[in-house]
Parts: sequence; C-alpha cells; structure tokens
Amino acid sequence: MKRTVSIPVNLPRERFLPLMGFCAEIFNQHVDWALANKTYNKSRAHKDLYARLRLEYPTIPSALLQTVRDMALEAVKATKFKRLPRKKPTSALRYDDRTITLRGRALTLSCIGKRVKVVLHIPEYFKEVYETWEFSGATVTYSKHSKQFWLRLVFEKNDPPKEEKGDVLGIDRGLYHLAVTSEKQFFSSSKIRATQRRYLHNRKKLQQKGTRSSKRHLRKMSGREKRFMKDINHCVSKKLANLPGISKYALEDLTSIRNQRRNKKMNKWMASWTFYQLEQFLAYKSEARGKTVGYVDSRYTSQRCSRCGHQTSTNRKKSRFNCKSCGYREHADINAAYNIRDRYILSSTPVDGGAGHSQLSNRNGYAHLVCVDNQLQAASACRRGS
Ligand SMILES: [Zn+2]
Repeated sequence: MKRTVSIPVNLPRERFLPLMGFCAEIFNQHVDWALANKTYNKSRAHKDLYARLRLEYPTIPSALLQTVRDMALEAVKATKFKRLPRKKPTSALRYDDRTITLRGRALTLSCIGKRVKVVLHIPEYFKEVYETWEFSGATVTYSKHSKQFWLRLVFEKNDPPKEEKGDVLGIDRGLYHLAVTSEKQFFSSSKIRATQRRYLHNRKKLQQKGTRSSKRHLRKMSGREKRFMKDINHCVSKKLANLPGISKYALEDLTSIRNQRRNKKMNKWMASWTFYQLEQFLAYKSEARGKTVGYVDSRYTSQRCSRCGHQTSTNRKKSRFNCKSCGYREHADINAAYNIRDRYILSSTPVDGGAGHSQLSNRNGYAHLVCVDNQLQAASACRRGS
C-alpha cells in the first residue's frame, strides 16, 4: 500500500522554473517522436533522441532527461495514441532514486547545475509513515497562484495480512446522518449541517456583493469549509476502521445511488466530493488494518424490510421504518444498513454454502431469515398479500 504527503518547499525559482520549462519541451518532443514512429519503446526513443537532446539541453542532468523520457512514453502508452499528452512549462516533475536522495529529513534534488538541498518539515500526522515506511519516489509541482513549490512524497509498505475472521458491517449514508451502521452506531451530522448552512448563507451573501474583497473572502471560506469537512471525514472513517470484530465494510455503490430518483437535495449531497471522500478515507484506513471495503447496489435498501424482505415505498416514513407486512419497526437508516450488510453477505457467499446464511440469521436475531429461498418466498408472499 501507498501513502503520499504534500509538503511546501522553498526551491530556487531561478533554477527550477527553467528546469520545468525545459523538461516540458523534452516531454513534448518525446510525445511527437512516439506519434511519428507509432511506438512507445523506451530504448528506441533513447537511441533516436538522447544524443540530440543532450546537445540541445546541456544543463539538464542526464538522469532527469531519462525520467522525462519514461514519463512521456508511459503517458503515450496510457492514452494509446488517442489523445496527445502535453506538458506545460510548469507541469509536475517526477523524481526517482536516480534524481532524488532522502536521508532523515535532508533531501537532495537533481536540478540545473548542482543538486539542491532542502530540509523537510514533516507534518505530525505523517511522521509515523515517514519514519517506518519505505520511500519510493516524489514529484515536484509549482503553484502559479501562490508561487510556491510543492513536494509530493510517496511511501510504500507491504499490505498487512488480511483479517479473515470478523463480521460484515453495513453502512448507510445519508443527508441527516453521515453514516449509520448495522451495529446501530450513528455518525450524526447535525453539527455539519448547521455549519454547512452557515457557509451556504455566507456564500450567497458574498456572491451577491461581487466586490473584489468579497471574492477574496469567498476563496478563504471555501478552503475553510473543505478543511472542516475533511477533518470530519477523517474522524468518522477512523472510528469506523477501528471498530473491533469487523473485517469487512459494506457500502452502497455510488453509481447505483446516482441512478435513483431521490429528491434534489439528496442527489446533490450524494454527488458531492465530501460524500465520496468519506469512502476513500475508509478504504485506505481499513486497508492498513487488513480489512476490506465492498460495495452493493443500493436500490430499495431504504424501502425493503430487512426482516421479511417485503418491499414497498410506504414502509418508510421519514426516519421511521414500519413494515406493512410483518410489522417490523426500526430506525429507517438502521434497517437500510441491515439491508446493505445482508446484500453484501449474500453476494459474496455461494448460495449453497451455509456460512453467509448462518451469519445473517445470527446477527439480526431473526430465525426465519435463514436462506435465500425463504427470503424470496416471503417477499413474494408479501407482494401477493398487499
Ligand atoms: Zn417485514
């Protein structure tokens, strides 16, 4: 598994900006060559171009030239000649073990002329990874807006052994609760909603003004809002990933959510980046603990009875779930989380194997949810009855 960290670094602009410009030109020349020769073979490119480019760009270190060549040909390979990968004068530069060294917190980078030395400030949250994982490469980027160089460091470690024992946790996500689990935990978002409402209100007011200072405030605010949500998503995903006795997490698959007709507010929320961020965070945090995240089709998870399988839109009224067929009552989001969990278990175990089903019947404590056939029969009986 991999982790990356982005750190602002002060690099000599008079040396790095020309370097980035030259590397972009070298990149584009390789792309042109690849298109003209219909190949992305690295050694052929080296034979045809290397000597000439060394003469044309004598200040560029040879190892860096080769990294740029590799990047260009890999980009062509990835697009399969369909789209032209192009680099701009301030595009990112890749560094590998030929062009970068990292000892403790001291870093050296290949550049025009002598290597550049910098001492890194590692953020607190990344220190453990930084000290114990293996460094595998870096990219240097430049932000024209803030006139700042950024270093993106990548670290690697072998995957931990997979947790085989443990239960499946169904997670329902929504507008009113960020996450509700099949173990009846609520990760409520009333605080988030209040904050988001405040941001929305302020944003509207500032947008109406339209002055230069209001635009500056808007930019600041958007950064603050992003950091606020990121922090919440980190906290929630960490709590979920640390839950004991759980080895798999079942979530609704986002594409199936988008295809559903729900209200406008809900769709907007589900398409938002914060919603997606939570599942990304959960994915990498659970991976580090040997756990996995699986996805299921989310259709009707909120309308279906998790006890008898009866499915109708009137089963759910706001946050209350009340089955019209068997009378089962539960919080609507918990019922949905059960459905998500059960759907995942059924989809990941063979129909004739007993494991998944016994898990199903144990966990809810319902004797009659024993096998798929029973469940389907119950569902069709309910439909006939209603
Ligand atoms: Zn029911």
